[in-house]
Amino acid sequence: VSPAVPLTDLDTDSLRAANARFQAAYDALAAQGLKLDLTRGKPSADQLDLSNELLRLPGDEYRDAAGTDLRNYGGALGLPELRAIFADALLVPPAQLLALGNASLTVMHDVIVQAILHGVPGGERPWGARTVSFLAPVPGYDRHFSICERYGIRLIPVPLNDDGPDIPTVRALLEADDSIVGMWCVPVYSNPSGAVYSKEVVRELVSLPAAPDFRLFWDNAYVVHHLTDERPTPIDVLGLAAEAGNPDRPLVFASTSKVTFPGAGVAFVGGSQANIDWLVRNMAVQSIGPDKINQLRHVRLLQDADGLAAHMEKHRAILEPKFQAVSEIFENRLAPHGGGRWTAPLGGYFVSLDVLDGAAERAVQLAAAAGIAVTPAGATFPYGDDPRDANIRIAPTFPRLDELRTALDGLCTAILLAESETLLA
Ligand code: PLP
Repeated sequence: VSPAVPLTDLDTDSLRAANARFQAAYDALAAQGLKLDLTRGKPSADQLDLSNELLRLPGDEYRDAAGTDLRNYGGALGLPELRAIFADALLVPPAQLLALGNASLTVMHDVIVQAILHGVPGGERPWGARTVSFLAPVPGYDRHFSICERYGIRLIPVPLNDDGPDIPTVRALLEADDSIVGMWCVPVYSNPSGAVYSKEVVRELVSLPAAPDFRLFWDNAYVVHHLTDERPTPIDVLGLAAEAGNPDRPLVFASTSKVTFPGAGVAFVGGSQANIDWLVRNMAVQSIGPDKINQLRHVRLLQDADGLAAHMEKHRAILEPKFQAVSEIFENRLAPHGGGRWTAPLGGYFVSLDVLDGAAERAVQLAAAAGIAVTPAGATFPYGDDPRDANIRIAPTFPRLDELRTALDGLCTAILLAESETLLA
């Protein structure tokens, strides 16, 4: 088969010949008995090492700048010094930014449960009083979807373009369906495509007519996770929402999970004063204050906004070659056959790969049988349902570079076999 001819352009005989070659390559791959894993959006061990000083910090210190004893209860809003560092990156005023426990996912989950039970500021009744829905830009983050699925919130997929969710679709859905009370947004380096929302799109999202209890779950998990020198202009979503007359619409989330230790980090939530007062009231019955010693550790490690940026550059140095390997291997192995389209993110943790329609699930299955674990096909869609069966999320951060290359190469072998099978079926 000529490498210049896309699989979709081959006649049946040539396709059969290609399929036989891919099958032989796959059999050789399977015989290697690999055991590799491309599923995990986790930092690698050498990234975790960048924050090992945390294991020794804060030493004998236990007071904040104001002299408060952080060993004790209290300080429900979190350590002011740490909130100041992340206020800068998130463009949320420190007074409206809380530093909490270990996982932002917990905060998102709790906000949703609180909204179901009590309703949110401006809402007439709890979300739980009726059937409610969330808009879900796709491909997206499966754990966002899982929260909604767990609590019976309907998920409505919306196409995610390179500059953010497709606004005409969002507008039409909001006009037609008054059950919509929320929307998942990963505005910078979206999981998994790496899309960065433009200012125009953000302006639309905060301005479009919607119910008073409609909330944007603004998960800025990757706002400081750059992979190149090309940096998106920071967008002040709270400021734009206030300007548009909808100050309570965005709820901003973030964490240090992929800055320091995912297992021992700090989560943040920001919003309008009304939203923050509501959150603090809800949290007051949950906890007498977060782990402020861990927050102090983080202040000592990161120091200030510049320290945070410098720390993230060390992550970039480790991650950049891994993302380059993804582009290079897909370019060499898939592109000659027209075997897929993939994103080249400027930051974040993932690459989104679209293989030929109908081949993703089979490709993942073939890869698994050859010892290469890949995120299940469909995981990036609500209910695990990718209507085209095309999208595969690639997580290149965790494996060592040599293992990553072997796994990606093997995955391409599985994809080409799956695609040729699909076209012959
Ligand atoms: N939000 C997004 C978009 C993510 O990709 C992830 C992890 O992959 C998380 C949140 C999890 O954040 P945390 O560790 O703070 O719960």
